[in-house]
Amino acid sequence: MFEALGNRLQGVFDRLRGRGALSEDDVNDALREVRIALLEADVALPVVKDITAKVRERAVGQEVIRSIQPGQQVVKIVHDALVEALGGNDEGPRGLDLNAPAPVPILMVGLQGSGKTTTSGKIALRLRGKERKKVLLASLDVHRPAAQLQLEQLAKRAEVASLPIVAGQTPLQIAERAMDQARRELFDVVVLDTAGRLAIDEALMAEVAAVKAAVKPHETLLVVDAMTGQDAVNTARAFNEKVGVSGIVMTRVDGDARGGAALSMRAVTGAPIKLLGAGEKLDALEEFHPDRIAGRILGMGDIVSLVERAAETIDQAEAEKLAARMQKGQFSLEDYAAQLKQIGKMGSLSGMLGMLPGVGKLKAQIENANLDTTILKKQSAIIGSMTPKERRAPEIIKASRKRRIAAGSGASVQEVNRLLKQFEDMRDMMKRMNKMGQKGMMRGGLA
Ligand code: GDP
Repeated sequence: MFEALGNRLQGVFDRLRGRGALSEDDVNDALREVRIALLEADVALPVVKDITAKVRERAVGQEVIRSIQPGQQVVKIVHDALVEALGGNDEGPRGLDLNAPAPVPILMVGLQGSGKTTTSGKIALRLRGKERKKVLLASLDVHRPAAQLQLEQLAKRAEVASLPIVAGQTPLQIAERAMDQARRELFDVVVLDTAGRLAIDEALMAEVAAVKAAVKPHETLLVVDAMTGQDAVNTARAFNEKVGVSGIVMTRVDGDARGGAALSMRAVTGAPIKLLGAGEKLDALEEFHPDRIAGRILGMGDIVSLVERAAETIDQAEAEKLAARMQKGQFSLEDYAAQLKQIGKMGSLSGMLGMLPGVGKLKAQIENANLDTTILKKQSAIIGSMTPKERRAPEIIKASRKRRIAAGSGASVQEVNRLLKQFEDMRDMMKRMNKMGQKGMMRGGLA
């Protein structure tokens, strides 16, 4: 989702690149663009002001570092300000807090259609799988007859228990019955999915607040749809004021939402964004890491998330090897081919591509042309037509080899060129990110 903001900021930094040292004019120019980019990306005005003020203060006050380009310096400062606006890095893990006596109640709140029920299922699946918890799902939605059945279905798919449906009960009665059953049958976690409404209304808030007072949930998670932009921020504010939330789950980050909501929501509510929903499938749930999202917003890709997600799908040892090779700048065409194969398994293709550095433009092309699997298959075929030596050292692939590879894979020489160029870009970016990791971004060479 953060693509739009990323691309816009990228434009600012491109213009800054190649100039001399950072001057006050440079900072002001950049800030004007950053401000517009953030506003266009739906970031709330106070948050925009806060970020730009921080960047100005730091950039102008800071001694100019002669050895790097101004763009790099501003990137670093903007990156840090974004991380702070997203909640900072030093608050520990952003996942769910289950540190309470079992059964731990988790209350899910939000508007209808935000993805609340789906997210309840995702959380149940994750807790059962990764954390080996015994989870009970219960729907308190007595307003929409199908809601309880929907949750029951999801529970089946996630292979967790759901509270038997009893007609005629109030949300409060259902919640209490769920907690009773959980205590009796020694469940670890109870996920309570409340009723949503199409818009904020007092009755909804009162109902949710009453359940909250009775159950005293350890987590009250507000589910908001990232696609609703500024409305998501207003929803978050209202729920936080009327009910109180301990964390936010932002859904549909797999869509092309403008990334601003993430920046604003934390600032407006003070509640951390804990999880991201990135697709309709039950395993499309990601942890939220401010530094990685800031990196994504800045268009630097997100190698850590990529490797982490890969690790869950592929063999652990393989993933570690891949991460190590990426870090050492030894990412090879063979790794790339292996990755293309894994992408299918990992769910959303555009989500994956968004994490790879330097492929923002390719991603847009793929989405426009809707050609994703075709391109992947073709790229796999091209790599498959190379000799092991060519895969290890693609620089030896000159014209005649290109013709042979193209003929062998049914691709054009142009397509072979495109793949090689893309791979080169990706590897360069990984090397630079690695350097940044070692020396800090200031001296890292982002331009
Ligand atoms: P609720 O009314 O808040 O309980 O919303 P639902 O859980 O029923 O979700 C509404 C629709 O959004 C369903 O079609 C879900 O499959 C879809 N959905 C939920 N979360 C996501 C997500 O993270 N990404 C995408 N693309 N769709 C989602």
